[in-house]
Amino acid sequence: MTEITSACLVAMFEKIAKAIEAEKDRLCALDGVIGDADHGIAMALGFSAARDAVTALDPAADPTTVFSTAAKSFLNAVGASSGPLYATAFMRAGATVKGKRALTDADFVAAFQAMAKGIQDRGKAERGEKTMIDAWLPAADAAGERFAAGGDLGASLAAALEAARAGADATKKMVAAKGRAERLGERSLGHMDPGAASAVVVIEAMREAATN
Ligand code: ADP
Ligand code: MG
Repeated sequence: MTEITSACLVAMFEKIAKAIEAEKDRLCALDGVIGDADHGIAMALGFSAARDAVTALDPAADPTTVFSTAAKSFLNAVGASSGPLYATAFMRAGATVKGKRALTDADFVAAFQAMAKGIQDRGKAERGEKTMIDAWLPAADAAGERFAAGGDLGASLAAALEAARAGADATKKMVAAKGRAERLGERSLGHMDPGAASAVVVIEAMREAATN
C-alpha cells in the first residue's frame, strides 16, 4: 500500500475485531489454564468497542485521532490487564504519527514498533516473563529489521507475524513472572500465555489489513 489513510486504519480495526471474536473461546481457554479465563472476552470487548468508536468517527479524522479513539474506547471497555496495555499501545501509535494526514509504510512500521514499546512501558515486563511482550517485542524488532533491509510493509509485517508466532510458542517453556499467572510459578510451564496468543491474532489481522 502506498498511502495508509484513516479509512485504512478503521478497516484494520474492523479486521482485528473480527479475528479476535473468532478466537475468543480459544483465548479464554488458554487463560483458563494459567489465569482467570476472561482473556478472550476482554479482548473481544475491547476490540469491538474500539471498532465501533472508530467507525463512528468523522471520515476526515486524522490517523492520530483514529488511534487515540481506539485507545480510549478499549480502555473503557476492558477491566482486565489487557485494557491499559492495548490502550497504551494505541495511544503511542497515535503519538508517533501526529500531524500526518496519511501514513507511509515507514510511518506504519514506526507506529507498530511504538505499540510494542508502549505495552512494555505500561506493563514493565521483560522478555522471558511469559507475557504478550514475548510476542510483541520480537515482532516489532523483526518488522523494523525487515523494513530497514529494504522489505516492503507486507514483508515487514509477515516477518513480524512469524516472530510473534515463534515468541508465543516459546512462552510454553517460560515460567510466568508477571500478571495473574505469576502466582502459579513452575505450574505455568507447558502452557502458552494467552496474551502472547492474542498478540499473534492481532498482528495477523494487522498484516492482512495493511497488505490489502
Ligand atoms: P487479567 O490477567 O487481568 O485477567 P487478561 O486476561 O485480559 O487480564 O490478560 C492476561 C494477559 O495479559 C497475560 O496473558 C499477559 O500476556 C498479559 N499481561 C499481564 N500482565 C502483564 C504485564 N505486566 N506486561 C505485559 N503483559 C501482561
Ligand atoms: Mg484474564
